[in-house]
Amino acid sequence: MSIEIEQVSRRFGDFAAVDNVSLSLPQGELTALLGPSGSGKTTLLRIIAGLERPDHGTVKFHGEDTTDVHVSDRGVGFVFQHYALFKHMTVFENVAYGLKVKPRRVRPNQADIHRRVKKLLELVQLDWTAHRYPSQLSGGQRQRIALARALAVEPKVLLLDEPFGALDAKVRAELRRWLRRLHDEIHVTSVFVTHDQEEALEVSDRVVVMNHGRVEQEGSPREVYDHPANPFVYGFLGQVNLFRGRVSGGWAEIGGVRLPAPEHRDVSDAGAVAYIRPHDIELVEEEITGEGVIRAVVETVSIAGAVLRVELRHGLGDDLLHVEVPRDQPVAQTLQAGQVVYARPKQSRVFLQ
Ligand code: ATP
Repeated sequence: MSIEIEQVSRRFGDFAAVDNVSLSLPQGELTALLGPSGSGKTTLLRIIAGLERPDHGTVKFHGEDTTDVHVSDRGVGFVFQHYALFKHMTVFENVAYGLKVKPRRVRPNQADIHRRVKKLLELVQLDWTAHRYPSQLSGGQRQRIALARALAVEPKVLLLDEPFGALDAKVRAELRRWLRRLHDEIHVTSVFVTHDQEEALEVSDRVVVMNHGRVEQEGSPREVYDHPANPFVYGFLGQVNLFRGRVSGGWAEIGGVRLPAPEHRDVSDAGAVAYIRPHDIELVEEEITGEGVIRAVVETVSIAGAVLRVELRHGLGDDLLHVEVPRDQPVAQTLQAGQVVYARPKQSRVFLQ
């Protein structure tokens, strides 16, 4: 089921929580609504669900206006941050619930319910928990059961609001990968709310970046990460170094250092801003000269998995320069505070505004 959102707005008093949003979400894709707190993600999700009515605009499911379709008739399944499982029911009963309360004419018989619940529990790899109660499961397991329960009624659209928000980082990372694999198997059109850019980039087919109730950009994870439409998207999708200066003839001049400006765009004298991601800067110990090289002193070095996070003090301003160095590079072996190094931003990776 595709979802078409056309010029949808929702105000609370004077405040526009969702401001003229239009989106087209193709059938079978997993879309992440990504944005800071208060950017309108949940409100938009609730509008798609039919839990909230837009002041303006329409939501269509596969071309059909849903404005007057009640939430229970939209064929949507939900998973929320806080596992809304019934505590007094076993896992099996929780997953079966949506099927048992269906109107009699469409309710499957006992044997079918049993078969379907068993299959769903296998799908979320928790068939061995069927007779347990939610209190006997871990947080991550409960969310997988919540997902099985949402899928039991065979929704045409699956809506997930920060489903892993309450879990610790490790479980969260596991569940993300698990959700991705599950989605590849079942292909139900899904919309996923998150404020975590890593989660959005890793899990989804399509990312919609929201800010102040509006869509800043939408596209594949690669598109929005590699070709951000504006500084907000650039900054929100990961850590960024920002320099102010002047741009002309393919170079940005910042505090006397020339940085490569890949877009060959002349931006008026003072107003140029150059952005560079920490992993797009190369570090070397031996002195190198030439254009685009920044001499700097290491301030701090810390380990972040396969990379070293290095903060550098340099002559271009008060801000520290953030660089990520793969730990298998020779320079990573000996880096320490106080050391002089040379930083060279990768030409094609400087983003200018
Ligand atoms: P978060 O990640 O914090 O949940 P969000 O991006 O999902 O944020 P929403 O929950 O959609 O944002 O809220 C958007 C704005 O609308 C917020 O400023 C919020 O306070 C406001 N808002 C949401 N629901 C209501 C309501 N029922 N009444 C008044 N204001 C509301």
